[in-house]
Parts: sequence; C-alpha cells; structure tokens
Amino acid sequence: MIIILKSNVTSEEIAVVEQKLATMGLEAHVSRGVQRTVIGGIGDEVKLDREALYALPMVEKVIRVMKPYKIVARESHGENSVIDINGIKLGGQEIQVIAGPCSVETPEQMERAAEAVVAAGCRLMRGGAFKPRTSPYAFQGAGVEGLEIFQRAAKPHRLPIVTELMDVRALDAFMEHEVDVIQIGTRNMQNFDLLKEVGRVQTPVILKRGMSATISEWLMAAEYIAAAGNHNIIFCERGVRTFETAYRNVLDVTAIPVLKKETHLPVIVDPSHAGGKAWMVPALSRAAIAAGADGLLVEMHPTPVEAWCDADQALSPEELKALMAELSGIAQVLGRQI
Ligand code: PEP
Ligand code: MN
Repeated sequence: MIIILKSNVTSEEIAVVEQKLATMGLEAHVSRGVQRTVIGGIGDEVKLDREALYALPMVEKVIRVMKPYKIVARESHGENSVIDINGIKLGGQEIQVIAGPCSVETPEQMERAAEAVVAAGCRLMRGGAFKPRTSPYAFQGAGVEGLEIFQRAAKPHRLPIVTELMDVRALDAFMEHEVDVIQIGTRNMQNFDLLKEVGRVQTPVILKRGMSATISEWLMAAEYIAAAGNHNIIFCERGVRTFETAYRNVLDVTAIPVLKKETHLPVIVDPSHAGGKAWMVPALSRAAIAAGADGLLVEMHPTPVEAWCDADQALSPEELKALMAELSGIAQVLGRQI
C-alpha cells in the first residue's frame, strides 16, 4: 500500500497517518520529499480499508500494491486451473460446450434435448429448474421436480447437469439430486450469502457476470466462493447492459483475455443471453472461442418455437450440430480440441 500525502504536511500530520497504519497492522516507511511525503505501508493489504485512510484530511491518494483478490488471482497460481466435472475437464486443452434448454419443462422435452446434446458432440447439459424471470407471472421453473426430470433425462447419457441456484434454501435439494455444476446467475453475482454457501460445498460453480458488474467486482465475487473453501469456479461472460437496444446485452469479448490474465480459473461465454437471438449465437460463439474462452453455455431446445422461456434465442438441434462443426475448425487453429 502506498499513501501519498497532500503537499507541505507537518510532522504531526505524518505521525497521524503512521498511527492509523499501525492500527491496521501495517508498518510505515516514510519517504519525505521537498513538498510531498509518500508512505509505504508494509503488511497484509487484503483486510485493509482504503476509505478509512481517505477519511484522513492529509491523505491525497491511496494505492494498493497487491490485488484485493488472492485465491482466484493468477498471482497466486501461475498455471491454468482445470476443473474436473465427473471426469470431464474444463479449462484445459479441450473446449467444452454446455448445451440445453433455458428451462426444464417436461420429461419428453428433456429427453429429446439430451439426445440432441449428445448428437451434437457436447458433453455437458444445461437447463434451469429455478428460473429468475422478470415477471412474477411468467413460468418460474419446475423446481425440485425439474431437478428430477433433468437427472432422469441426462443420466442415461452420462451427461453432467448444469442448473441455476437462486436461493440458499434449495442447496440441499441440489446436493440430493447430485447436481454436477451449480450456476449462479447474473442477478445473483453479488448475493454474498449465496456465494458463501456454495463456497461450503465442492460442487463446481459457474459464476455468471452481473449484468453491470466490473471485472474487479466479478473477481471479488469469485473470491467469496473461494474464501469459503470451494475453488472449483468457472467464470461465465454473458453480456453486459449498455445503451444499445438492437440486442439483449453486449458480449464483452475483451473480458476474456483480461480474465485469463487476472485469474487461473476457466472462462466460458454464454452467447445466447448476450445476443438474445438464435441467429447471433454462431458469430458470438466464434468470437468467444477465438478470443480464448474455455467453453460455451448455449441454449438449445428440441423445438425452439415451443420453448417456455427464451424461445427466440434457442438453437435447434441441427443448428447446435452445425455450430459444433464450425467451432472445431477454430479450436484446431488454436491447438485445442472441441
Ligand atoms: C440462464 O442461463 O438461464 C440465465 C437466466 O442466465 P443469466 O443469469 O445470464 O441471465
Ligand atoms: Mn435463458
């Protein structure tokens, strides 16, 4: 931590800052120039409260030397972390495409979806049993019964299931139904109590980016899960809110290389909720893989026009198959497999 003081401070004022740093457990190294004094605060910065220093009238600027996140930072772990999901590796050479409907509807719909996921060559399946809908009158998801339907459709194909957890109270049901990957949605990225609870289990977590979250806030949200004990975290960029109305969200492709630099954890992209239209999904998927994403989370419905949720952004089984073929060429160029 580096503290730059205002010009022409007195020795008494410097002593006040030194004392404040001491209460924070930091040792002060004072460097006095002709006009300016700079203080280096040596010690553990992580628990430090920058605002408390800014509250001192003689302090001009406080600069962190260390990142505020530790466990998720690449600084702490140089190699890429590979998450093992029932033997399927995410974050390594192989790119994983997680496909399936927005929501679990019926046993028949999920069985047909599972067949289409396998036929396209995808190895993990998505589907929401608890849905965060804008309207309280819209379909809210099939709930615990949806988890049962999902597992019954996915198990025969040995497809690990990815599904969203919105409420801590449903975590036990997720464990009982052997959910393979817990998805934390955009609306809950900063639901810190929920993050702490999924940190207490070892089930891999897909942490979606809050729709207006900075990358630093997103990394700190992941740190909550990691600090509670679960290091199996996968970041998912799903587009952010801007002034643009021609599409649902703006896919922040730039976030991919930035996250790859800042964290050792895998990064995937959801092109479906970014564009909000099925026809945009192939282009956004290509961009994501080319930019270094470790996988995709894609909505696919056996009969998109009949989907109970997000119908206009769901790929058909044929479109998913075509997308996988297209992406394998890009993966090859990158020296990866899909
Ligand atoms: C979803 O994946 O079904 C979903 C609701 O996504 P998001 O949280 O990104 O809106
Ligand atoms: Mn959806």
